[in-house]
Amino acid sequence: MENNNQPETAYVSINVMQALVEEKVDKCMAEADMCTCPRCRIDVTALALSLLPSKYVVLHANDTLPMLTVYANRYSAVVTTQLMAACQRIKENPRHGDNDKRGNIAFIRD
Ligand SMILES: [Zn+2]
Repeated sequence: MENNNQPETAYVSINVMQALVEEKVDKCMAEADMCTCPRCRIDVTALALSLLPSKYVVLHANDTLPMLTVYANRYSAVVTTQLMAACQRIKENPRHGDNDKRGNIAFIRD
């Protein structure tokens, strides 16, 4: 790269898996025919991310969207697989309704 004048803040680190999960979660939940309340959605998101390896990449801020498309193509299948597994688990054991009792951390036990 010829351009050395960019400040370091022009770069961002992104967990590709997280970006993909957030992009796909609503569609997967709809396909799983499950509750889509905010608690279930965040539970599915957290569980799917626990099942996936994290994959951090450093991108130039201006390149974020095009580069994410490249990674999206590479990891799309595995993200969908784990998201569907997460949807299935939350659908069978929804945690909406048992909040507020304890600051429960949902997925530590496994
Ligand atoms: Zn729910």
